[in-house]
Amino acid sequence: MNQRHIAVQTAISRPYAEPILISAKVSEYFGTNVFSRLVMREYLPEDVYRQLTEAIDKGGQIDRRISDQVASAMKAWAISKGASHYTHWFLPLNGATAEKHDAFFSPVEPNLSIEQFDGSKLVQQEPDASSFPSGGLRNTFEARGYSAWDPSSPAFIMDGTLCIPTIFLAFTGEALDFKTPLLKALTLIDQVAVDVCQLFDRNITRVYPTLGWEQEYFVVDEALYYARPDLVMTGRTLTGHIPARGQQLEDHYFGAIPHRIAAFMKEFETEAWKLGIPVKTRHNEVAPNQFELAPVYEEVNIAIDHNQLIMVLMDKVARKHRFRVLFHEKPFEGVNGSGKHNNWSLATNTGKNLLSPGHTPKTNLLFLTFFINIIRAIHEHSDLLRAAIASAGNDHRLGANEAPPAIISIFIGRQLTGVLDDLEKRVKDRKMTPDEKSDLKLNIGKIPRIIIDNTDRNRTSPMAFTGNKFEFRAVGASANCGPAMIVLNTILANRLKQFKSEVDKNMDKGIEKDEAIFRVLRKYIRESKNILFEGNGYSREWLEEAARRGLPNLKNTPEALHSYVSKKTIALFERHAIFSEKELHARFEIRLENYSKVLQIESRVLADLSGNHIIPAAIAYQNILVENVRGLKDVLPPELFREHSAQQIHSISKISEHVTQIRAMVRQMIAERKEANQQEDPPACAKAYCNKVKPLMEEIRYHIDKLEILVDDQMWPLPKYRELMFIK
Ligand code: ADP
Ligand code: MG
Repeated sequence: MNQRHIAVQTAISRPYAEPILISAKVSEYFGTNVFSRLVMREYLPEDVYRQLTEAIDKGGQIDRRISDQVASAMKAWAISKGASHYTHWFLPLNGATAEKHDAFFSPVEPNLSIEQFDGSKLVQQEPDASSFPSGGLRNTFEARGYSAWDPSSPAFIMDGTLCIPTIFLAFTGEALDFKTPLLKALTLIDQVAVDVCQLFDRNITRVYPTLGWEQEYFVVDEALYYARPDLVMTGRTLTGHIPARGQQLEDHYFGAIPHRIAAFMKEFETEAWKLGIPVKTRHNEVAPNQFELAPVYEEVNIAIDHNQLIMVLMDKVARKHRFRVLFHEKPFEGVNGSGKHNNWSLATNTGKNLLSPGHTPKTNLLFLTFFINIIRAIHEHSDLLRAAIASAGNDHRLGANEAPPAIISIFIGRQLTGVLDDLEKRVKDRKMTPDEKSDLKLNIGKIPRIIIDNTDRNRTSPMAFTGNKFEFRAVGASANCGPAMIVLNTILANRLKQFKSEVDKNMDKGIEKDEAIFRVLRKYIRESKNILFEGNGYSREWLEEAARRGLPNLKNTPEALHSYVSKKTIALFERHAIFSEKELHARFEIRLENYSKVLQIESRVLADLSGNHIIPAAIAYQNILVENVRGLKDVLPPELFREHSAQQIHSISKISEHVTQIRAMVRQMIAERKEANQQEDPPACAKAYCNKVKPLMEEIRYHIDKLEILVDDQMWPLPKYRELMFIK
């Protein structure tokens, strides 16, 4: 028995673990581990409660007296729930979550201690953060960073620690996390969108973007996972022959959830509910052992915190159930990869969804305004949006046959296309008649129902309008949604600001308001309609068509990331004070370095696998064949021997050929890696990994996968795809 057999035995004889559940209704314990408004009301004096919630809703300052009182309330509440520690919880640029726990307990004199936590500890801390990626923003001699409380995302208790969501900055003030620029973008869109809404409805005084993410993931039994060094080290399989059966029977999607998986899901959902994460939907995805979960949408900042939190939670609970969760975008060749659809819309203080056409002409023009501004904004910055979702993992998915292409286009459905055509053509350069206007506005009112009812949905589009929201599908499963949300909200705010000033200009010329708005919208449609695409985004024809239209097709991460530091991008972000040029360069470098490091690790692991696992197994089997041929020669008459040994000898030479190729290419790959590592310039290094190292990895894999079907199953050292994906 080799390691693989032991792993398979362990996995299939795994006893079913009962999930730890709570025998109450979810509504009775939802959010019990959150320092929610309900808790605040109970623990805070009335005036402090009011000032805090006002500051949260309107983004005002929180003074020292208030923060002291909040800290003391948090401490009392957390200790009453059994917490012993507290931590600032933040989202550094390594893509993970970060926490450093401190105990509340504090000795005051020998044998006497008290629990301490005050406003200063709540508001700001200075973790020595020299080991987080900074893209050169922090010199090691100035290694301090600081974290600062984000009151708009509620504190929570996890594993006996009070976690306080914070932003994370270099001591010189540059952002070192995903949250800081996000909060700036959210403040910006609020101001600008309210200005635009005021053209239609004076009651709208606050606009906040909403996000509902759909998280896809794979689950693998822990024993099988440990028997695959590539999964352990890189989160994906670097080799593995596609099994006879993959997803072609289409029997996994929405199928019955296996018992063991369901137990795992129920337990992490219970934990999520306690943390106030509104997870709602679970189902089997397309690929074997692939699943999805989705919450009810929330305000973007909280939705992102919740997404990061649930990934951590799922990992923890999976281990208890002897599983590993794979959030990698492409853990297995030959079946679908995993994405994280970002459903995005904008909501108002009046309870309106700005992307949901209503029943009155007035609200429909408001809808149309935001709808067309979004299209115009994405058209202008589609390369930046592409850059926002670029990563080594996502490169395997984008442009592959199951995922959106690397070309950003927008699907809006037949009816809305008709509306935009009408608006553009029918009323060209002349005033619309009142009848035309109300006709147009009324028609829009019918659209969301049509879309929702007919599920007029194009699954191949990276950005689809789905009735009352845009669904950005190109985000990778492991990604922080931050970059995508920062870009979408900033480019929209940028466009809305220009829209408002163009409308104002028209009105200054004495043009009536509706007409002034229609004129700008018409111009925007004309300028941006070539990003609209209703056809099959996976098809070859689309690649050609998109090229004719001049839409960027940035095929890989090193290419795509350049948009982060283009003149246009720098001007955009500096204009709105979301990122400085320095910060953008830092992010550009961090992302490139991450790309190179991921490929470096993968390439090293592949070399190890080749030399230590694959080639020894292939040679051992080859020796058996050689022995067999020798034996046949001893016992068979020469004519029969020639006939009967031909196939064996063919196999022997095939194995030899693949082994030789693997050896040669591993040597070449190591040489290319050395070459790449010598490139000091991060873009050059990433490019070398992309163009020189990666193709060799693919070729090496090809030969290893061929060996997998030649070598005796008993001798193959690594769990095969059929075992990884079908044992549940
Ligand atoms: P699917 O796209 O899988 O068919 P739905 O359209 O029902 O599923 O919803 C998918 C996701 O869209 C859910 O996570 C939901 O919370 C989110 N969603 C719905 N409305 C909004 C909105 N106004 N803003 C942001 N997300 C939304
Ligand atoms: Mg969806």
